[in-house]
Amino acid sequence: MTKLQCGKCNYEFEKEKVPNRCPYCAAEDTIEPYKTAQDWLNETEI
Ligand SMILES: [Zn+2]
Repeated sequence: MTKLQCGKCNYEFEKEKVPNRCPYCAAEDTIEPYKTAQDWLNETEI
């Protein structure tokens, strides 16, 4: 299972595959792997 999050409504859920639509707000192409605060810190590290 992969933890995913909608970039539009921030709804968090788990699925094996990344869906085309958000199951909550039905927006398309907004689903991304969920990032923890630590992931954001790692990415922005200079
Ligand atoms: Zn959504």
